Amino acid sequence: MSDVKIKLASSFVFICCLALQVLFVKDALAKDYLVNNLQEYKDSLPKLKPGDHLVLADGVWRDVKLVFEGKGTEEQPIYLRAETSGQVQISGVSNLRIAGEHLVVKGLVFKDGYSPTRELISFRKNKKHYANHVRFTENVVDAFNKPNRQDEDSWIVLHGKNNRVDHNHIVGKTNKGPSLIVRLNAKQSEENHHLIDHNYFGHRPTLGGNGGETMRIGVSQTSRISSYTKIFRNYFEHCNGEVEIISNKSERNTITENVFYESKGSVVFRHGGHNTVSRNIFFGNGVDDTGGVRVINNDQKVFDNYFEGLKGQKFNAGLTIMNGVPNSPENRYHQVDGGVIRNNSFYDIAHIGLGVGSDQERSAPPINTRFANNIVTSKNPQLVGVFDDISGIAFEDNVADNKNASTLKAKVVKNLKLKRAENGLLYPTKKLNAGAPKDLKPLRRHESGMSWYPKPKRSEPVRPATAVNGNASALIRALELASTGDILELSAGTYDLPSPLKVSDKLTIKAAVGDKPVIRAINGPAIELFAGAELHLNGVRFEQANPVLPVIFAAGYKYDGKYSLTLENIEASSIAKESNGPFLSSSATSFADAIRVKGLNVEKWKGAVFDLSGQGLNGWYLADRLHISDSTFSQVSGPIVDFGRDGRDESTFGPLFKLVDSKIEQVKNVAKLSGIDGFEFADNNVIDSGQIDVQQRVLGYPFVMSGNIFENTPKAGVIGRDGDTFNFVKE
Ligand code: CA
Repeated sequence: MSDVKIKLASSFVFICCLALQVLFVKDALAKDYLVNNLQEYKDSLPKLKPGDHLVLADGVWRDVKLVFEGKGTEEQPIYLRAETSGQVQISGVSNLRIAGEHLVVKGLVFKDGYSPTRELISFRKNKKHYANHVRFTENVVDAFNKPNRQDEDSWIVLHGKNNRVDHNHIVGKTNKGPSLIVRLNAKQSEENHHLIDHNYFGHRPTLGGNGGETMRIGVSQTSRISSYTKIFRNYFEHCNGEVEIISNKSERNTITENVFYESKGSVVFRHGGHNTVSRNIFFGNGVDDTGGVRVINNDQKVFDNYFEGLKGQKFNAGLTIMNGVPNSPENRYHQVDGGVIRNNSFYDIAHIGLGVGSDQERSAPPINTRFANNIVTSKNPQLVGVFDDISGIAFEDNVADNKNASTLKAKVVKNLKLKRAENGLLYPTKKLNAGAPKDLKPLRRHESGMSWYPKPKRSEPVRPATAVNGNASALIRALELASTGDILELSAGTYDLPSPLKVSDKLTIKAAVGDKPVIRAINGPAIELFAGAELHLNGVRFEQANPVLPVIFAAGYKYDGKYSLTLENIEASSIAKESNGPFLSSSATSFADAIRVKGLNVEKWKGAVFDLSGQGLNGWYLADRLHISDSTFSQVSGPIVDFGRDGRDESTFGPLFKLVDSKIEQVKNVAKLSGIDGFEFADNNVIDSGQIDVQQRVLGYPFVMSGNIFENTPKAGVIGRDGDTFNFVKE
């Protein structure tokens, strides 16, 4: 009612202003209908006039199928709202249908229930009565899931025209069907000009099947219809349902200024042409399967976007341009024709795929397409995947730091220097006529959704990395000042550490883009990990000088919590004379829940690399899982891994071991694994090396040994179970 008071005061001040007086009179006549139950709701609904509010009393509304129908005006919409925003919970078997025009729905929380229909919140009452000029704002849908994952529905389904869905909080969908759909299956819904903005699309766990999209605009049958839907400044966080975060299946939509944060999947131009993806921010933060944009179909535009740390591949790369099907039916893949990909920044991305999907059916490569003024940096020497004839893509004025990017006809700038600007995004320090524009203003998380419904806690807020310049004392000081979730970015130089860096928090230490800093331990380990440590090392080279002590030591002296370690693109070699300490070892009382290693290159190593033997610990073991992939070990006396546990006890999950996609050359002892519960040794190339000895546990998971190439190396064998010695796995 304070609204009215303000307007009353205003109208005295501006008494001469007739227009305001008229507004005042209308406002004063507008009524609030506070309703306590479904009957009161139904009784009040027909009375609603422009400017009226139908107010749901605070509390839980269980098993309600609400229809909100009315005819407001642009100046005087009719509201359906919570008495107090956030204090009205719709639960049980419930849904909401909206029809009419100039309506607003506000402040409701859909929680602890599910829809009896395929549309939880439907912008139509039935096939005759649609919603137009309706705003759905500041509402929550939180895990309002049908009981069975394969039962399909969508939470918000837009029909009609000129509707707006904004500042909502949509989180936790675990059953089949996109969280939000725009439907175009009726004349009343074509060329709809819907606006979807400032919503928070939170965690959507992986569905494990098709239908896990967070958003879908149209379907293939209606994909040649223009939708003119605008998806503007939304925050997509951990939207991991499936490979399509947004599945665009209609024409002339605009997806702009959104943030995609650690979301597995891509924005996909699945069907329909003439769409635009511009000024979006993709932060992958090195999370697997984080993708960017996938282009299919004609006249699609991708410009002024910013992509960083995306690790997706193939159909889900930072940028994927697909092959089409000649004369494709609507539900297959139309050839890319007239695409424009320009002025995007792709930093530290794993893959770009061109002509992806090329096969006998998808034989039409992209044509009339321009890829220009983009900047691409990557640590992956196989950055660009070319799967078909790409002569139909004109590459112009691109910049890259990666030789492999010659496919992009990019000017290769070695040691391309990037600096994080105030908007949190990287830009080259010298002027290049390429990359995303400087005036991007990434939507901040708190600007999405609403303040009264909390977003999940995030230990790692987006924050600029702390630059550490070239020497050990700067690194030690930076670590002292660091708080949990910080990122220390080391520039080139040799960091001769006089004492170990002690880590007991979430921390990332990574190389500045284009640099290869070297860390050397002088008197002991370079790094000591304590309980609670979640250390992520990326892009650093370690030089081992110590004859006995490890480079990294899990140092807990009594077990008071696990640690985890992630190594990515790490080099290690020994500069010690006769022997050297391991790369990683552990005290008997430390425990890692996971050690993940990707892209570790160890060369000239005189001893064990991972020394995590559980021998003598009476069944206790030192790491639950040790996963190594895409790595190289050459001239290592070994073992690469000494890992396992004693005894026959079956009460533990691990230890689990995986070594895949790696090259092992001149390694005397490849592995010493005892009491292993899970084992995968696959797609490795083993040359001039020793046998792999594995001892399985009685109840161990199936062992996988496949796709390896052994050259001048005895074939790997499982030497026994629980102490028996017999050979039973053959390559
Ligand atoms: Ca899909």
